[in-house]
Amino acid sequence: MSQLLFVFLVILNFQCAENSGDGSTLEVVHDSTDVVMEVTEVVHVNTEIPQGLRRLLVAYPEFLDSADGNNLYWKDGTVMVYDDGYDKTHEEKLNNPDLEDMMSQEYIPGVDWDSPPPEDFEPGRIRFEPFFKKMYGASSDQVNENLVSLKWIPGICGTTVKVNTVNGVAEKLNKISEELSQLPAEFHKYLARTGGTFNWRNIAGTNRLSTHAFGTAIDINTEYSDYWKWNNSTQYRNKIPIEIVVIFEKYGFIWGGKWFHYDTMHFEYRPELLNQAEEE
Ligand SMILES: [Zn+2]
Repeated sequence: MSQLLFVFLVILNFQCAENSGDGSTLEVVHDSTDVVMEVTEVVHVNTEIPQGLRRLLVAYPEFLDSADGNNLYWKDGTVMVYDDGYDKTHEEKLNNPDLEDMMSQEYIPGVDWDSPPPEDFEPGRIRFEPFFKKMYGASSDQVNENLVSLKWIPGICGTTVKVNTVNGVAEKLNKISEELSQLPAEFHKYLARTGGTFNWRNIAGTNRLSTHAFGTAIDINTEYSDYWKWNNSTQYRNKIPIEIVVIFEKYGFIWGGKWFHYDTMHFEYRPELLNQAEEE
């Protein structure tokens, strides 16, 4: 009586996109004994590193080591799963995201973006919290240890704010501050006050931490800002000039004014959403 052996042998080849060939490899091993080996099914495993993981690697080289088809490897040995495999509504992605959800919407830098944002289109608003806690601090005290004081746009605003030094965030905000100070007088009113930076708190009405909790976000003048919650409406509104936005984006900060649930005073450091040109 002949025996059938079902072989599902998939060789995972962890390789970068630049040199990837045909993805997975199937290898059939012929045995020298009388066992008949029959391959009845080819399990295709896509081992190419997803674009979102590649963007994370490029954005946070100090912390991240490598990735494969569905895992992110940190330099300290931590492994994070990229895609948890669950189908989610937009609200579920906000409340219970994985890294894949976080990277699932494409932020469009510059002046040529889709305005007003389509329903629930808000790249950057989905955040996988453990990812940021590991880098910037997992509690108010831990974040505090990483904060420095920065004089924000001296001559126009001049308020001293607390910002995170991790990933060079404070340095980048300092450069943004310098560039904003060069803008013509007509822009000064949007920058004359700041709505604040570090504040260990949840986003109003949610259980999700605000990026202000990490000291990696700044709000500009609230007087000229629109926030969907204050307006009690997702009907898009904005008064902030794009000239200000592009300066922030140049240094890895995304703008809440490009979100369906808009928050036009809000900028946060999210280089993984702004490095398309570097990795493609
Ligand atoms: Zn904010």
